[in-house]
Amino acid sequence: MPKHFCCVPDCNSASAKKNNLQKYPWMKGVKLFPFPLRKAAVLRKQWIDLVRRHDFTPKKYTRICSRHFLKGQTPRDDPKAKPTLFPYNNWGKKCSPLYIFSLIISVNACRPTKINLLLVHAYLILGHFNFQFLIRLFLKS
Ligand SMILES: [Zn+2]
Repeated sequence: MPKHFCCVPDCNSASAKKNNLQKYPWMKGVKLFPFPLRKAAVLRKQWIDLVRRHDFTPKKYTRICSRHFLKGQTPRDDPKAKPTLFPYNNWGKKCSPLYIFSLIISVNACRPTKINLLLVHAYLILGHFNFQFLIRLFLKS
């Protein structure tokens, strides 16, 4: 059986790790799904876009792991399922207000400009808030 890895950036799921759950307990129950077939072109393209990898074409053995699907909404449950949970959207989790507040403070402590605050607020309101974005903003400051 070929060894499968999850193709999502910053996700470390791999089929081989399931044989060592003591070392990789988070791999318990994780499944690796193939991309939709070429004949399901629209869905396939949506998956590719969602993965957000530069110059990315899934190959025969390219896999995406079940950690990127909502419970009960995996390709096994629904052939039209789409991955929605990624490191870039904080695995679909909304951050706590206190956490967001502390990030805003730290960003603005570095560079207290109105534009930084506006950017952070815009991202929060639009629901595009993600941790990596703020880290990038923070590093740029
Ligand atoms: Zn993954």
